[in-house]
Amino acid sequence: MHRLNPFFARIGYDRAAKIILPFEDVGKKLVFDCRLCGQCILHYTGMTCPMTCPKNLRNGPCGGVRLNGHCEVKPEMRCVWLDAYERSQKMPIWGRELLTEQPPVNWQLHGTSSWINLLKGVDRRLRVVSK
Ligand code: SF4
Repeated sequence: MHRLNPFFARIGYDRAAKIILPFEDVGKKLVFDCRLCGQCILHYTGMTCPMTCPKNLRNGPCGGVRLNGHCEVKPEMRCVWLDAYERSQKMPIWGRELLTEQPPVNWQLHGTSSWINLLKGVDRRLRVVSK
């Protein structure tokens, strides 16, 4: 159990989310172009937001990556998953996290605080770890 859990449980997760969500929204939007999916997997993807992929893929690229490494949907954009791979290889402790299979996006969590969802454990349901 997370150390902060009792504190947030005491003030109530809903109230904590109201306080935290604006900070998470602004901060992560600025740094990671966060789309507020409510189930953050940044540290699995070399701190690259997978929701910036036009197809919202959470387990690697589609089959349509162009020869120049750009997206098939938005040709002017580099594939998010190339960035995710390269960045994850530079991360000292989370490099292999990229191999963790992610559950499908739960759109019911969209627009909610991923930090609070992490504390509540609702973002981890169905996650499978590769051996
Ligand atoms: S994975 Fe979700 S919460 Fe994390 S930065 Fe991307 S949209 Fe935001």
